[in-house]
Amino acid sequence: MNNPWRTELWFLGLVTVVGLTTGYVFGYPLLGVTIGTCAYLVWHLQNLVRLVHCLQGGDTHTLSDSKGAWGYVFGRLNATKSANEKEKKKLRRSRDRYRSVTRALPEAAVTLKAEGQIDMINEAAVRLLGLRDPEDLGQPITSFIRDPKFIELLDEGQSTQAIEVVSPANESSKLSLRVVPYGGSKKRLLLAQDVTRLNRLEQVRRDFIANISHELKSPLTVIIGYVESLQDDQESARKWSKPLAQIEQQSNRMRRIVEDLLQLSALETTEVTDDVSPVDVPALIRSICNEARELGGEDNYSFSVDVDDELMLLGNFNELYSAFSNIVFNAIRYTPGGGDIKLRWYEDNHGKAKFEVEDNGIGIAPQHIKRLTERFYRIDKGRSRLLGGTGLGLAIVKHVLIRHNAKLNITSTPGTGSTFTCEFSPLRIAKSEKAKSA
Ligand code: ADP
Repeated sequence: MNNPWRTELWFLGLVTVVGLTTGYVFGYPLLGVTIGTCAYLVWHLQNLVRLVHCLQGGDTHTLSDSKGAWGYVFGRLNATKSANEKEKKKLRRSRDRYRSVTRALPEAAVTLKAEGQIDMINEAAVRLLGLRDPEDLGQPITSFIRDPKFIELLDEGQSTQAIEVVSPANESSKLSLRVVPYGGSKKRLLLAQDVTRLNRLEQVRRDFIANISHELKSPLTVIIGYVESLQDDQESARKWSKPLAQIEQQSNRMRRIVEDLLQLSALETTEVTDDVSPVDVPALIRSICNEARELGGEDNYSFSVDVDDELMLLGNFNELYSAFSNIVFNAIRYTPGGGDIKLRWYEDNHGKAKFEVEDNGIGIAPQHIKRLTERFYRIDKGRSRLLGGTGLGLAIVKHVLIRHNAKLNITSTPGTGSTFTCEFSPLRIAKSEKAKSA
């Protein structure tokens, strides 16, 4: 494009020359120049008025016929305006797309401003949370969801964890809520999902397993009782020794599965009570170690126990016994005779209490580690059965640890051995009376 200033100067020069020449013809050259300059000024004023009109939102299309610097200004203005129009259309399209996506979401989505006021909501939010669009926009979300757990979750800001609350729109519905930070500057997205049906199904599953386990327990006790009586009877024992031994072995396996299932149901269904007492973990570990020595029999395992005698844990004795013994007995099961099993109980540098079981057994390939705490997940089913495993031991460990706000870490190298570590929060630690008085 030509330099607009040069055109403008040419134009001004032309006006001056024409004014001067015309004035000269009529004998008033100065008057001619003055009239020409005034006309030039009027033209500028006219364009200025058009510019102001256009900036106030008027139509810009009539402006493109201007010449010189004004032509350039109006040309740029038109170009910027049509670029803006295009951008607006694009934004409108993506907003509509976003709206149709959030509308299709079965989850309620609420965007929250930094102070927790409602910014935008989707249709599911109207249904699940009872919010109204646009009446409730700008209101603090805590005026609608008043559960203290939710207020805590909102204050945390960063948590990926979900909580369950009663729906503010319907008291018989349960909602699972998650708060996800987005877009920096403390904005958050609240996602709510109706879990009433899911909870009901989960309850049905739990009840079914608990009931069926209870139902199986009595017939199994009867079968085992009869088998023992038959084995005591010399003639039957002689005649049926092999089948009786097999029935006994399989019934005992079934009984162990039923007992583990019942224990799992109890862990899932009973409430965690707050009145926990200090558990003497060092004594508990020594007792498990004695049992483990018996279980190891003649296989010459070497056990080493390294425990901090002052370190107690606030928790449930029976549950901890069950979790720790499952890990230790697994170490024996999956370590060939003569292996080393090391038990440690200590407070680490971060003040966490740790129970660690290290073996130099068969080890675990990395792809299995994540799934070991699933019910009935076994790497080698045949081997587990042969060794008397139920496939439920580590699921029990997981549940006990959840109930103690603890977690399980597993590190392992196939062919070299494994280390199972239960990690407890410093809040769970209790010191023995001796340690306190020292
Ligand atoms: P199981 O009754 O089969 O031992 P668990 O839930 O206790 O069931 O363990 C699940 C699986 O984890 C086991 O079948 C076994 O494959 C693996 N596992 C557990 N502990 C160890 C260990 N110390 N070394 C190697 N594998 C192990």
